[in-house]
Amino acid sequence: MKKIRTRFAPSPTGYLHIGGLRTALFAYLTSKSQKGEFILRIEDTDEKRKVEGSDKKLIEVLKWIGIKIDEGPQLGGEKGPYIQSERRAVYDKYKKELLEKGEAYHCFCTPERLTKMREDLQKKKMPPRYDRRCRDLTVGEVKKKIESGEKYVIRQKIPLSGEVLVFDEIRGEIKFRAEELDDHVLVKVSGMPTYQFASVVDDHLMEISHVTRGEEWIPSFPKNVLLYKSFNWEVPKFIHLPVVLNKEGGKLSKRQGDVSVEDFKEKGYLPVALINFCALLGWHPEGDNEILDLAQIVEKFNHTKINASPAIFDTEKLDYFNGYYIRQMNIDELVGKCKPFLADSLQKTSNEFQKTREYVKKVVSLEQERLKKFSDIGEFTKFFFEDNLVFEESLLIWKKLSLGEVKNNLKKVFELLDKIPEENWTNNSIEDSLISYIKAKEYKVGDYLWPMRVALTGEKASPGPFDVAEVLGKNESLKRIKAILNKGGKNDS
Ligand code: GLU
Repeated sequence: MKKIRTRFAPSPTGYLHIGGLRTALFAYLTSKSQKGEFILRIEDTDEKRKVEGSDKKLIEVLKWIGIKIDEGPQLGGEKGPYIQSERRAVYDKYKKELLEKGEAYHCFCTPERLTKMREDLQKKKMPPRYDRRCRDLTVGEVKKKIESGEKYVIRQKIPLSGEVLVFDEIRGEIKFRAEELDDHVLVKVSGMPTYQFASVVDDHLMEISHVTRGEEWIPSFPKNVLLYKSFNWEVPKFIHLPVVLNKEGGKLSKRQGDVSVEDFKEKGYLPVALINFCALLGWHPEGDNEILDLAQIVEKFNHTKINASPAIFDTEKLDYFNGYYIRQMNIDELVGKCKPFLADSLQKTSNEFQKTREYVKKVVSLEQERLKKFSDIGEFTKFFFEDNLVFEESLLIWKKLSLGEVKNNLKKVFELLDKIPEENWTNNSIEDSLISYIKAKEYKVGDYLWPMRVALTGEKASPGPFDVAEVLGKNESLKRIKAILNKGGKNDS
């Protein structure tokens, strides 16, 4: 059986787009689910888009996320080099072969002429395809033009009529009419190959068995297949992955928020959650369980089950996965991950106890349930480190209570808490003391616990008052309630 080999072939544009991660992951899964090899190839033939150092960054990100590369830049391998700009001689050789076979031709049309030609076609509402003016130049004419220093590109000689049938592993057979295909450029004026040429040559020489790429390449598909045929090469299997759209149905773009994997990393998303989430952008495991790590996904993945319809990038779903994996984390590891996001709070507080590992650990474990990403921790736990809470007094008011009533209730809470011995200061004993009082008096729980929670946190939403009080400690809890009681002097009821 033929070896299974897939590749991820990004252009080095400076960062890894989350959609690029999905493409990389699906190429990896297609290979690893069949015990194959996964190759990284850097497609840097577009000099304008190239960003220095981005290949190194890319390799680091893939490593962080857990996608292991078998062959690629820096790692090496038998089919290298794996950076296209280092493969010029290879492309030159195959360019020559194509020209000799008459499957490609020199085109000397100037950019001005091409612009004018396209404008004219557009005016006539015709597709802006090259009009093939140079397609039938004689060998002598070509030679003369080259000798006189005219600049040229190399174009693919697409058949003028007939059908081109291609087969996509997900969509099945797709038919194209040859007359609708452009004689596109294979080699640029600079001598650099275009994607259309280099990717075919490389996929062949690197023995790629399955080309997994975004569906935006479907229009190129017939031209690529014709090129394989021109060389008499076996066409690999092609898998065009569904486009990833945002919830509104538009393209994922930098403007609408973060799209680079590095951004997600910085915000505190876990590799396992990103992988789990991306694997479901166009694929679904059999059964209901969607929570899967990379090894489990490899086990279940089947590239023939990839969906053709657009995948929707739903950040809430990503948060759901990340929250799930955060809840599974060991608390010490979680504290380590949260620490950078607590730096501001730790610096601000003047309470030495609040700077201790013991306190930070309690704070983090209290928030573990609520956390969706590590970066949330700073905002969620600010109040735990505040010397003086600042908030609107009206927040203390529960339902129809007046501020005076609220303060009276808080006074009672203060007295009850004050009676609890320091060594007995746990959420359970705090709860027992307050609830037994409220029940005995047949008061409403919310009338006491809401103001208490707000007095301790200054927040609309937070963990419950007993837990917060336990973590803050007796002194700090009483201090915070007292601060409210002292504010504004007399009660108004
Ligand atoms: N260099 C192309 C891109 O970044 C790769 C397409 C492919 O995978 O063939 O979009």
